[in-house]
Amino acid sequence: MRVEIVAVGTELLLGQIPDTNSQWLGEQLAAHGISSHFHQHVGDNHERIVAAFRVALSRSDAVIVCGGLGPTQDDITRAALAEVMGAALERQDYLVERIRAMFAGRGRPMSDNNLLQADVPVGASVIDQVRGTAPGLICPVGSQVLYAVPGVPYEMSEMFTRAILPDLLDRVRAEGQTSVITSRVLRTWGASESGLAEAVGSRFDELEGSERVTIAFLASGIEGIKVRLTARGDNAEHAKELLAAEETVVRSLITDAFGDVIFGVDAEAMEDAIASRLSARGLTLALAESVTGGLIASRLVNVPGASNWFKGSVVSYASDIKFDLLGVTPGRVVSGLAAEEMARGVRTLFGSDVAISVTGVAGPDPLDGHAPGTVFVGIAVGDEISHVELRLPGDRPRVRSYGAIGALNVLRQAIDRIL
Ligand code: ATP
Ligand code: MG
Repeated sequence: MRVEIVAVGTELLLGQIPDTNSQWLGEQLAAHGISSHFHQHVGDNHERIVAAFRVALSRSDAVIVCGGLGPTQDDITRAALAEVMGAALERQDYLVERIRAMFAGRGRPMSDNNLLQADVPVGASVIDQVRGTAPGLICPVGSQVLYAVPGVPYEMSEMFTRAILPDLLDRVRAEGQTSVITSRVLRTWGASESGLAEAVGSRFDELEGSERVTIAFLASGIEGIKVRLTARGDNAEHAKELLAAEETVVRSLITDAFGDVIFGVDAEAMEDAIASRLSARGLTLALAESVTGGLIASRLVNVPGASNWFKGSVVSYASDIKFDLLGVTPGRVVSGLAAEEMARGVRTLFGSDVAISVTGVAGPDPLDGHAPGTVFVGIAVGDEISHVELRLPGDRPRVRSYGAIGALNVLRQAIDRIL
């Protein structure tokens, strides 16, 4: 069973609204093991909508159409469905009554345009409207089917769950084909996309053409690179087993090539990885931030309950604050030594178990003989003090953002190594 999604609306083509309907439908289909190979966007134009439906029917078993079922001039999905079905539109009296009653119930006047929503192609069945005024439609075309739902996300999702999904699952069962898809994202920081692809390359080749397991890389800017593993099993248990086995293989390929670069899974952000490690060990953290100017603290405070383990941050931007408040030896403030002294100083000041610091060059000009993008991260764990030098790409805002997540990654690795 292959399902295609056709999102109707000129506003989608113009980029005025993001197509969250297709995204949501795509997730729902995947979660129920239903393949979806194509999504289309088409504007509010009769010929082009008809053409989009015909293309969809030429390569998919079922089509979900969203948008253009409303009462206005540009809502022309109904007529396009009728044309593709080779059927006339017939006004349904019971729908007319229902739409009138809905308006009366809300105490609003109804224009006759609204009665267009009572037009149903002959041979189609209706998905009752419970949230809006436009009913959905189930339009058979031979053994294939077009489902049409309103574009309003809240109406679309309700109709999908109540009427379309059960119908699709019946069709899947009739084909004797059931499977469940499950996926997991491994979150990495510090490895390049091409490097990861090379490290996982042999596995990638082995899986070529596999209907069971796939691997995809998703670059996510400063948040690193996501490696998405997807498994299709005969049932939920089988899918879970396939996914777990694949995760073991891919994790070891990545770790062998890059070391400890996987910081979390799925929606886990770097700050979540820090939070879980510190909470589990009952440790507290303090920061001394120069080049990041509070960005690290801001990320950490994103995590609910951060006050249990996060003491605070000194934004020691001016050199004399580094010297006077944190006890850094007067001299160069962009160096590994300065970073170590900042971390030691803030750990003492806040009385935390662990402290990290960042000092570096955001650019555009070099400083203390270091190129823009050079960031030193100091780490103080108890009395053990060390530092790591990062080389980060990009302009000033990017160096600062990369510096924040990069420093947290250094902290994560240090906690795993030392504590
Ligand atoms: P209505 O009865 O409200 O007119 P409709 O079926 O005619 O519904 P549209 O007119 O195409 O649907 O869209 C109604 C609203 O739903 C849009 O203004 C937009 O906010 C939202 N919408 C439409 N399509 C999408 C989509 N693909 N993703 C997210 N939102 C959408
Ligand atoms: Mg509309």
